[in-house]
Amino acid sequence: MHDDTRLAHIGRHGTEPLGLVNPPVCHASTILFPSFDAFEGKAPVPITYGRHGTSTHFALQEALSELEGGAGAVLVPSGLAACTLAIQALVAAGDHILVTDSVYGPTRAFCDQALRRCGVETTYFAPELGAGIAELMRPNTRLVFVESPGSLTFEIQDLPAIAAAAHARGVRVVIDNTWGAGYFHKPLALGADISVQALTKYVGGHSDLMLGALICTAETLPAVQAQARLQGNATAPDDVFLALRGLRTLGTRLKAHDASGRRVAEWLGGQPMVRRVIHPACTDHPQHALWRRDFSGACGLFAFELESCRREQLAALFDGLRLFGMGYSWGGYESLLIVAHPPRSVCKPGNEWPLLRIHVGLEDPADLIADLHEGLQRWQSA
Ligand SMILES: *Cc1c(COP(=O)(O)O)cnc(C)c1O
Repeated sequence: MHDDTRLAHIGRHGTEPLGLVNPPVCHASTILFPSFDAFEGKAPVPITYGRHGTSTHFALQEALSELEGGAGAVLVPSGLAACTLAIQALVAAGDHILVTDSVYGPTRAFCDQALRRCGVETTYFAPELGAGIAELMRPNTRLVFVESPGSLTFEIQDLPAIAAAAHARGVRVVIDNTWGAGYFHKPLALGADISVQALTKYVGGHSDLMLGALICTAETLPAVQAQARLQGNATAPDDVFLALRGLRTLGTRLKAHDASGRRVAEWLGGQPMVRRVIHPACTDHPQHALWRRDFSGACGLFAFELESCRREQLAALFDGLRLFGMGYSWGGYESLLIVAHPPRSVCKPGNEWPLLRIHVGLEDPADLIADLHEGLQRWQSA
């Protein structure tokens, strides 16, 4: 079955006997046990307590794990919570982890502050390292955290090579798969043990919900489920319902983001004041070959560098934008543009940074290009 067909049918259990197309939104804290046996755990019950999820949550968990080829999925209140839960499920005091230098900034902050306080040491590695990661492993290394493409700088990582090096030493691999959205990239098939996603982005798709997911292999699922229970996170069924609704159009939307994104990237690449466009689908991207090998498409998020970034130039560009909004997050139907200063410790920033990070939404790309064209003219005369 193709993914677009799958997206229309997965996670629709619980709709019987009424013939509903969509699973109902089940709000619950208390669940009444049908018998004393069930209360004592001697007879199985599908639901025990609201914090552990209702049929609405189970539908989304099932859909996500089917889409990414996992054994199961766990939902958490945000994408960041998915990243931090994956790490916490797999490490203990005294452990060492390897994290890509291109990791999402708040995930880096969690490692540098919360993990360090708990006695877990983090080493950042260059995203281009691939199989060379073996040389950074220590006897107490437990985990490699990959993000591909990297946040803001969009390096593609050689996941199969990293996973082979890690698994040879009994080390687990977690990947932040938010950019691939479970659709353009299938990391569990390439060796990852856990794929985390900010559903806030493309699965939600409408800039109105916060949610995260961990899609796990059979080996990692029990540890993730256990840690999730210990931490006590719960997600709202209304948000889960919105994610399920977003999932139905994920493929259609992503293909439109992909086509428009490439068109805008190509146009930007032809502008004299644009020094470099960083888009994995562009043939001049340093890891374009890896992207072609491991991804089936590109979402609408990429970056570009301008010849110069004086504050007055940036202010002139941004303040007159008609269609592009200036705001965090991405993956919604609308276009966004921000200035970004990627925090890096191994890959030192060039003098060309800051970067401009662009999210190409579902508007007509000709209108978006016109908005950018006017913006670059304002930049030029500032
Ligand atoms: C946005 C983002 C997150 C965090 O998601 P939230 O739902 O905002 O917490 C994690 N990883 C990546 C790559 C992201 O872009």
